[in-house]
Amino acid sequence: MGNYCRPSEISEAIALLATDRWTVLAGGTDIYPARLGASDDVDILDITNIDGLRQISETKHGFFLGSLLTWSDLIGMPLPSYFDALKAAARDIGGVQIQNAGTIGGNLCNASPAADSVPVLLVLDAEVVLQSAEGHRRLPLSQFLQGNRKTNLKSGELLTQIFIPKKIEARTKTGFHKYGARKYLVISTVMSSGLICWDKQGVITDCAIAVGACSEVAQRLSVIEKVICGTHLDELKNIDVKLFYFNSLKPLSDVRSDKEYRLEMAILQVRSLLNDWSNINV
Ligand SMILES: Cc1cc2nc3c(=O)[nH]c(=O)nc-3n(C[C@H](O)[C@H](O)[C@H](O)COP(=O)(O)OP(=O)(O)OC[C@H]3O[C@@H](n4cnc5c(N)ncnc54)[C@H](O)[C@@H]3O)c2cc1C
Repeated sequence: MGNYCRPSEISEAIALLATDRWTVLAGGTDIYPARLGASDDVDILDITNIDGLRQISETKHGFFLGSLLTWSDLIGMPLPSYFDALKAAARDIGGVQIQNAGTIGGNLCNASPAADSVPVLLVLDAEVVLQSAEGHRRLPLSQFLQGNRKTNLKSGELLTQIFIPKKIEARTKTGFHKYGARKYLVISTVMSSGLICWDKQGVITDCAIAVGACSEVAQRLSVIEKVICGTHLDELKNIDVKLFYFNSLKPLSDVRSDKEYRLEMAILQVRSLLNDWSNINV
């Protein structure tokens, strides 16, 4: 039987992580199912008692989301409307029990290709804050996630916060679409998220689109993003969502879907995002 520790301060957790190989436990909704039948000879560092990890702070430039915020916490928080896509993804993660326990930090550190928060956080230009006994470092999420279940988290590091830069709320819109084999309680077959910002005339000044579950790590679609930037909101309906915009994806065929169907769904989801945005009134 391994050791179990449940500190109440970030500093205690960091000090423990510096001394030994602990397995960090947040909501446990990924760890427990993954460890079914495995040996219990593992040292568990339970971070659920660290209130400092379950808060949001706002600065001039953005929001720092504590890694221990659960999906239910995020759904219930008053946040600018460009967090709507993150809230929509949160509402689609498992059922209410999973949303009450599962955390944003756990979703990122588990690094599943089907992690629903990842496409949304990529379009929001999220960064992760990683803390260790040596100090802390900030990394864009795209650099933190390195592959299927692979992250840039080093031994001794704890993911403490996720930073989201501020946008102009009145002229920013985000969206999220998830497709799975059924409507509720489903792991994504494909999910897509997007963000656009526009100027006072309705011309799009910034666009980000990301697709998940179609490669080891969700990918931004830089080619279509460039096509969309500079067009007017009214013209979004006329944009031809071409297959080659999705060339950076490497979908797999597996039990959930074959790769061709995944690509078709990704195209439909991006089409839906553009249709949604074309109804925005300037
Ligand atoms: C029935 C069910 C349905 C689900 N449905 C979905 C779904 O629809 N969409 C989806 O995306 N996911 C889904 N999941 C997966 C899971 O609920 C989420 O990924 C959740 O956000 C994981 O968070 P957690 O706090 O439970 O992570 P944990 O299980 O506690 O941890 C996951 C991993 O991250 C590490 N870790 C956690 N926090 C930190 C930290 N702060 N610093 C360093 N390492 C850390 C842990 O050591 C572990 O390796 C589902 C799971 C179940 C059981």
